[in-house]
Amino acid sequence: MNPLFSRMPTNIFTAMSALAVEHKAVNLGQGFPDQDGPVSMRAVAAKALMEGPNQYPLMRGVLPLRQAIADHARSFYGLEYDPASEIVVAAGATEAVADTLIALVAPGEEIVLIEPAFDIYRPLAQAAGLVVNTITLSPPDWRLTAEALKAAITPRTKAVLLNNPVNPIGRVFSQEELTLLADAVRNTDAVVISDEVYEHFSFDGRKHVPFASLPGMRERSVRIGSAGKIFSFTGWRVGWVMGPKDMITAIANVHQFVTFAAPPAQQLGVAHGLTGEMDFPLELNKALQQKRDLLAQGLTALGFGVLPAEGTYFLTASIDGISNENDRAFCERMAREGGVAAIPLSAFYAEGGPQIYVRFAFCKQRAVIEEALARLKVWLCG
Ligand code: GLN
Repeated sequence: MNPLFSRMPTNIFTAMSALAVEHKAVNLGQGFPDQDGPVSMRAVAAKALMEGPNQYPLMRGVLPLRQAIADHARSFYGLEYDPASEIVVAAGATEAVADTLIALVAPGEEIVLIEPAFDIYRPLAQAAGLVVNTITLSPPDWRLTAEALKAAITPRTKAVLLNNPVNPIGRVFSQEELTLLADAVRNTDAVVISDEVYEHFSFDGRKHVPFASLPGMRERSVRIGSAGKIFSFTGWRVGWVMGPKDMITAIANVHQFVTFAAPPAQQLGVAHGLTGEMDFPLELNKALQQKRDLLAQGLTALGFGVLPAEGTYFLTASIDGISNENDRAFCERMAREGGVAAIPLSAFYAEGGPQIYVRFAFCKQRAVIEEALARLKVWLCG
């Protein structure tokens, strides 16, 4: 067996969700919405499922979906991608990330990850045989700096994996920070793999800036998106990647051997969503901002040191003023005794990293967040 995987524990989201079930805890751990997305999208998918065909769809994705993805990129950001040659639909953004890492970087070449990082990136990069250099962001402002970029990007760097907005810390990188990254890769061989699955969830009037929209960067980057995130259908497994034709050709060549295609009925449901249901994510963004505020105020009142959450489904809070335990021990005890599950931030670091922060998901109904806060109040304040 590959020791990378045989010695790896079950991922933290599954572990904390299992603990939540065992202790009947309110689950603010694993980041999935507790209300499904638009009924009209389900109706389109259900009809396609009943009427068929239910055979392999086009390898790169059904045409109406690739067209809708191209139209979405144009109408929101003014970005042009050719549906025939510059877009691949994958079975979730996770597959798109895996395909892209394998396709754009050769074994032994270097990739830069920015930590704290979503947990799939490093194992996938390592499985692809890549050498990982790490930029570590520092709390409480988690800013990307020119010095850190300069130290991590070498002449051997072939890719930088950017996640923006950032899971787990809820940062939305500013135009200045993105420009620093663009400047750092401009005269190198490196491309930027930009995971933008939370593109529609930026708060307080922030606008999402796709990395590809920076000067010169459309030809130097690929952009990954997710129907699961945009429409609250995380189980549908429909994601995509867009970029210049040569990179997308290589990515499609991996995709054909990994899953070959994403489920056709869901793809048609998503095509309908991108053309007719874009109010859904825009409304969800407003609701998420309100839920962030509800959770942030509640946690602050209980003594947590809540950090700003600029986007995504997540906020991070320090347990410094509450407990002497490390984040993992605290989260396990909070699930068992306090009846609330969350994710220790150290899970998003390969090693080291702070052990005083906890990630809470607020993509839940208000009553669920209120119940979690009420339980924490009883637990912490008696
Ligand atoms: N993206 C979600 C999170 O960060 C779920 C990840 C997962 O379950 N693999 O919580």
